[in-house]
Amino acid sequence: MPRYDFRCRSCGATFELRRPMSQASDPAVCPQGHEDTVKLLSTVAVTGAATAAPQAPSGGGGGCCGGGCCG
Ligand SMILES: [Zn+2]
Repeated sequence: MPRYDFRCRSCGATFELRRPMSQASDPAVCPQGHEDTVKLLSTVAVTGAATAAPQAPSGGGGGCCGGGCCG
């Protein structure tokens, strides 16, 4: 069953509900009981690839334990 994210405009809380797609646009009630909620767009695969991740030294010289600084 698909999962939908909602945001409450009364208290600002975000919450998610599992419901059939046929009920995707039905009004949702905040866990705090507020009815003024909006459905958020699904954020599938927004995280993306870590292209900018720093490259960690993977051993093989140049490391601390290879340069004699570790005793
Ligand atoms: Zn609320």
